[in-house]
Amino acid sequence: MKVVIVGGGTAGWMCAAALARLLALPDYDITLIESDEIGTVGVGEATLPHIKTFNDMLGIDEAQFMRETRATFKLGIEFVGWDKPGGRYIHPFGTFGEPWAGVDFQHHWVRASLAGQDVGSLQDYSYAVAACREGAFEFPNQDMKSIRSTYAYAYHFDAGLYADFLRRWTIFRGVKRVEGQVVGIVRNAETGHVESLTLKSGARIAGDLFIDCSGFRALLLGQTMNVAWRDWSEWLPCDRALAVPCERAGALTPYTRSIAQPGGWIWRIPLQHRTGNGHVFSSRFCSKEQAYEALMQSLDGPALAEPRLLRFQAGRRAKAWEGNVVAIGLSSGFLEPLESTSIFLIQAAATDLANLMPVGGVIDPRLAAEFNRLFEIHYDRTRDFLVLHYAANARVGEPLWDHVRTMTLPDSLAHKIALFEESAAAPDYTLGLFSRDSWLAVLVGQGIVPRAYNRLADRIAPPDLEAKLSDLKLRISTNAAAMTPHDEFVASYCSAAADAAGDTVSAA
Ligand SMILES: Cc1cc2nc3c(=O)[nH]c(=O)nc-3n(C[C@H](O)[C@H](O)[C@H](O)COP(=O)(O)OP(=O)(O)OC[C@H]3O[C@@H](n4cnc5c(N)ncnc54)[C@H](O)[C@@H]3O)c2cc1C
Repeated sequence: MKVVIVGGGTAGWMCAAALARLLALPDYDITLIESDEIGTVGVGEATLPHIKTFNDMLGIDEAQFMRETRATFKLGIEFVGWDKPGGRYIHPFGTFGEPWAGVDFQHHWVRASLAGQDVGSLQDYSYAVAACREGAFEFPNQDMKSIRSTYAYAYHFDAGLYADFLRRWTIFRGVKRVEGQVVGIVRNAETGHVESLTLKSGARIAGDLFIDCSGFRALLLGQTMNVAWRDWSEWLPCDRALAVPCERAGALTPYTRSIAQPGGWIWRIPLQHRTGNGHVFSSRFCSKEQAYEALMQSLDGPALAEPRLLRFQAGRRAKAWEGNVVAIGLSSGFLEPLESTSIFLIQAAATDLANLMPVGGVIDPRLAAEFNRLFEIHYDRTRDFLVLHYAANARVGEPLWDHVRTMTLPDSLAHKIALFEESAAAPDYTLGLFSRDSWLAVLVGQGIVPRAYNRLADRIAPPDLEAKLSDLKLRISTNAAAMTPHDEFVASYCSAAADAAGDTVSAA
């Protein structure tokens, strides 16, 4: 079966790598077309812990990957000024506390807080938060009983270097790369399926399944198959970003920072060789000049380039698989990078596609229906999580923030917030994003205080609960204080990789 991927950005190469690894190459002939003339979006530097599973699935050596992509470790995201000016909290990649007496931790914490006990912030009960505050990193302990096993990690990396790394890895495993611009698309008059692509050079590339990784252009799914766009800008009004790298200054933080601004927010992503920065803003509430000014003032060190403007709209396609075209990456939808979700959405789609891959060139519409069901779940849940950050804010008097605080929410999100307010129950998903602890971090971080909790928590006597909470807090803070500074850890891990002989991209 001939599979043709259009696009060589992060989506194209992640998809090609996943298919090359998961499918038997003799049955699937994979070609990727990319155009140097058009280029890639070139941002996308912060990730979620799932990326480690992806790299491990490919058999990539972690230290070598970190060295080549100038990566650092990421234990979470710090949100500054999101709940209210001056406020801050971390969304950690890890759990809050432990379930006691079979009851989720937050119920115990809410119970003690409502009783007026001085139990501190929920943040004090996360090991990953403590490690972020220490600016420290070590790999999670494999002993599940250890407090040091209660977190996961992701990476910050140079997006261009990651695409290069995957390109080499994938070509070595038999995927064909064609450089050229697609200028013509031939469809079957009866079925509407895409039959072949014509390049500017005149070359014609035929296929059975076409994967659209052409970025915001959505060349195949949008422009050719005319699959409708679902616009979500009523809930996520940011539609521009200015991105600029700057010189590194100070210690490497093991987390991304997101700083709320009157017209949007500014990201700060620490890499080994530079810091990535950007200002995501809503053109309805903030001019380009205002965004530029705020961004340049926020830099840790001198800018390394002129800021680059990117335009986008929040939303997704009604479907990601139509006929024999599957869209993955920006061609399928866009959600602003507030929680670093785009690369995860690519990974999820590439893995789902490998699992649902047609056999022998015949496309069963039921495979497409299942792919689209999963696509919708991933996007819609992620949207709700992002909207929560905006909706629950106390930045009164700022037009953007007043607007998002008073807008009508998607029913699915309104339900989650009400449930938490009334009972401290947080959503928990086994498929995709986000886990209960992530929801907790943001619900509580944005200032939502539950009025009640699961009464099964009352089975623990108040003095016992107080003792358990203070013991847990102490275990977290003493262990985190003994960790290695993040800079030191990254430097020694990557230099060990440099000493190891051989090209692991080809060997993995
Ligand atoms: C401001 C901003 C910040 C972001 N930050 C993050 C982040 O921190 N974390 C995260 O996970 N994600 C982030 N993202 C999203 C992330 O950048 C993308 O999901 C990721 O880069 C994938 O892009 P892509 O491969 O779909 O598209 P692109 O990178 O745009 O690649 C498109 C490819 O298609 C090719 N192409 C297009 N048209 C043709 C044609 N006619 N013929 C041949 N080839 C063609 C291009 O040459 C290119 O190779 C961010 C996005 C933006 C806009």
